[in-house]
Amino acid sequence: MSTKSNQQDSLRSRAETQLDLDAPVLPALLRPADELLHELQVHQIELEIQNEELRHAQAAMEESRDRFVDLYDFAPIGYLTLTANALISEINLTGAAMLGEERKKLIHRRFARFVATEDSERWHRNFLRVALHGDNQGCEVTLQRGDGTCIAARLECLRLVKKGGEPVVRIALSDISARKQAEEEQRIAAIAFESQQGMIVTDPHGVIVRVNQAFTRLTGYSAQEALGQTPALLSSGRQNRTFYQGMWAALKERKYWQGQIWNRRKNGKIYAEWLTITAVGAPDGCVTHYVGTFSDITQNQEAEAEIHRLAYYDPLTQLPNRRLLQDRLGQALAATTRNGHCGAILFLDMDNFKTLNDTRGHDIGDLLLVEVARRLHACVRGGDTVARLGGDEFVILLEDLNGNIEEAAAQAKLAGDKVQEAIARPYLLKDCEYHCTTSTGISLFHNNNVTVEELLKHADLAMYQSKNAGRNTLRFFDPAMQTALEERSALEADLRQALRHQQLRLYYQPQMESTRGIIGAEALLRWEHPERGLVAPGDFIPLAEETGLILSIGHWVLETACAQLKAWEDNPHTRELRLAVNVSARQFHQPDFAAQVKQVLAQSGANPTRLKIELTESLVLDNVSDTITRMQALKAIGVGFSMDDFGTGYSSLSYLTRLPLDQLKIDQSFIRDIGADPNGAAIVQTIIIMGKTLGLNVIAEGVETETQRDFLEQNGCHAFQGFLFSRPVPLAEFEQFLNSNRV
Ligand code: C2E
Ligand code: MG
Ligand code: MG
Repeated sequence: MSTKSNQQDSLRSRAETQLDLDAPVLPALLRPADELLHELQVHQIELEIQNEELRHAQAAMEESRDRFVDLYDFAPIGYLTLTANALISEINLTGAAMLGEERKKLIHRRFARFVATEDSERWHRNFLRVALHGDNQGCEVTLQRGDGTCIAARLECLRLVKKGGEPVVRIALSDISARKQAEEEQRIAAIAFESQQGMIVTDPHGVIVRVNQAFTRLTGYSAQEALGQTPALLSSGRQNRTFYQGMWAALKERKYWQGQIWNRRKNGKIYAEWLTITAVGAPDGCVTHYVGTFSDITQNQEAEAEIHRLAYYDPLTQLPNRRLLQDRLGQALAATTRNGHCGAILFLDMDNFKTLNDTRGHDIGDLLLVEVARRLHACVRGGDTVARLGGDEFVILLEDLNGNIEEAAAQAKLAGDKVQEAIARPYLLKDCEYHCTTSTGISLFHNNNVTVEELLKHADLAMYQSKNAGRNTLRFFDPAMQTALEERSALEADLRQALRHQQLRLYYQPQMESTRGIIGAEALLRWEHPERGLVAPGDFIPLAEETGLILSIGHWVLETACAQLKAWEDNPHTRELRLAVNVSARQFHQPDFAAQVKQVLAQSGANPTRLKIELTESLVLDNVSDTITRMQALKAIGVGFSMDDFGTGYSSLSYLTRLPLDQLKIDQSFIRDIGADPNGAAIVQTIIIMGKTLGLNVIAEGVETETQRDFLEQNGCHAFQGFLFSRPVPLAEFEQFLNSNRV
């Protein structure tokens, strides 16, 4: 362009130097030839200039036409012309691309072929309006492209009528798929925004920019009241700073947070909501908004809390029940592996609670339990659990005790003492003062060394040990205790079979008199266990007592002994023998004990005067007047009574004089001490004198040596029983012994 103008300029200056352009043009004939020549040259130059300019104008025109074609073809929207018959007569490249076909294939094609069926009628009407009436207007249709895909398009139509020609319709075609989709999404979003869930949108600084109607319904704040505020508007104060710090940390890291939160409505009522917050980010990663969605879960919460309360708490004392305790124990056990601490459980059982319940009624019993629960709760630290297992059993779970097991035991003992003390303080139950104590079993745990069930069992067992130790005490569980328990339960199962399988035997230990020789025997029970061999009574009588099996066993002993007495009656050598039978406390305290003995005697036909019943001091003391009545009933028919193990109990002259006894049997421990301990000898002497004073005969048991026998003789005791003469033996051996010792 610049070179062209330079050339023109130079031509122009050449012409101007040769010709005075301002001079008047004279007729050629009046001027000299050189002048004419010069003029001619100038004309030629001017002509050249004109030609040059023409060429330039032509080139420029071509260039702008190309540019127009480019613009037309590559315009961002499609252009096409339809004939009056709606055939495509021309189309730009963009339009062809939008229709999904090559341009040349589109010419003379019917445009309606590309309009989706559902829009074809509308399109047709629109076209006619434009083509026939020049009623130019646009419409939106779905176009079905050559490859089958669809786009949403806007068609701007314009009728053009060329002079003398047919009218044509020019169409500007734009793809509005993206806009349509955005509109669709917006519509869905708008509907979603007005859902049943409360919604709140804030700017990145937490200022509320939008809320929905559900928000207003749930919180009581109108949109107007909420906009411009922050969600702190709803704060209930129930969540602490750490809670919110955690929430913001999650939002920062994951752009998302979900959880339960307590908020306050406009009316002041606190409610629980389930809240989800999502951070909305711009493409550059910056947060532009926070969107919170929430629903009111207060009712669920309340229902849940109620279910939880019913399932995990004792309704009387409101203490955790067994289920919750088991749960907490499980956690506490697991925690010991992590933190290295020890824990302990205290298993408490109220002493004599049943008596209170039976004598004063269950209402009073309940009052006591509630007060006990309160005291227990007051004794422990905040993190410890006090639970009621049921009845009068409570468990305290102590956590985070010292890691050293001995130290932990000391801590648990201290806590246990404190509890015992608290429980032992007097109670005022409906204006009546009441005193009670507890027996406590303690079991320690560390390093997750037991299961929950085992732990409870251990503490329970220890509690029983403390009951046995005289109540109002405290005992620790140790593994030996557990082994003993397991053996005990196996033994119990076997003992239940012993009678049915005829494994019980009576052994006979002779009772001697210095002058008369064998005067009788003591029947001593043995259990011939198929695997254990001969089991001594000391190993199973206490168990039989506890389980109540002693009643049937005792009955069997009586029957066997009476049958034996009856059998001996036939023989003059055995007719005079007396048989001593041991009777246990439980057996003796049965209301119909005397009647039972009488019945057994009657059934066997044995002579009652040959039967001697051995009682112990503790048995007698349990209920002295009852014992006396019972003894007298039997005494009346001739049954004799001997006080076994005499000297080991609370021997008191006052009751001794009241009891219808026949004999005192000096306990073997005193006999053993004869010769070894001057005290022992003195006791033996005293018992003998006491017996004589009371008019009772005296027998010594456990006589093993001649020295012991001599000492007894010298001191006035002439009846003996012991290994010096014979061990307890089976019947056949006893009868053999009788034969060989006949005086
Ligand atoms: P117990 O009535 O005082 O019986 C005496 C115990 O002393 C017997 O033990 C007997 O074997 C043992 N003995 C006898 N002489 C000597 C001796 O010289 N030296 C030593 N070291 N011991 C001697 P056993 O048979 O083991 O019976 C133990 C206890 O079991 C009995 O003490 C009695 O209380 C109870 N018992 C035995 N049979 C029955 C029974 O049929 N019914 C009930 N309820 N208890 C029974
Ligand atoms: Mg005895
Ligand atoms: Mg004895």
